[in-house]
Amino acid sequence: MIILTAGHTGATSGAQCTATHFDEGAENIWLRNRIAEILTNKYNLVVLIDNDHASLSLVTKQINENATTEDIVIDLHFNAHTNPNARGTEAIVSDDATTLELRFASRLAHTSADALNIPLRSIKSETQTPNHRLAMLHLTPQSIILEICFCTSPQDVEAYRQHRENLAETLAKNIAELITP
Ligand SMILES: [Zn+2]
Repeated sequence: MIILTAGHTGATSGAQCTATHFDEGAENIWLRNRIAEILTNKYNLVVLIDNDHASLSLVTKQINENATTEDIVIDLHFNAHTNPNARGTEAIVSDDATTLELRFASRLAHTSADALNIPLRSIKSETQTPNHRLAMLHLTPQSIILEICFCTSPQDVEAYRQHRENLAETLAKNIAELITP
């Protein structure tokens, strides 16, 4: 089973960038819903999505109650930085990532960067991130975090707004391929 989660707790949560008029929480939801719709309608896959307003602790609890170690969670986010020149796609995995998690992280980061025609930054382990430990990477199912692009980069945001439909299509296609090899 595929579990798609929209980072943070709905519109006006997450990174808010006034320079690019970008609301991370709202965009995480748009992208999650569009990918889930394509996976369901075009690829006949079962997709579980999170509740938009649920706290991180409630979301992790619900996932652990409903998923098994065979399942995979893709947690969608957009990155932010004080430097508007910071750009590109990143994926984050736990320090002891499984083969499936590394495969998803690598493929989906490449797919996002290609779909938006923006730089591919890196596949990071959580200890390389400012928080060092991320709850979404310590669930019963396997999980990755995908940071689509920088919402503080005017170039990334322009690319995202122009290509988000294609991004959703190609992410869905690659998720379907990874889950049904
Ligand atoms: Zn975020």
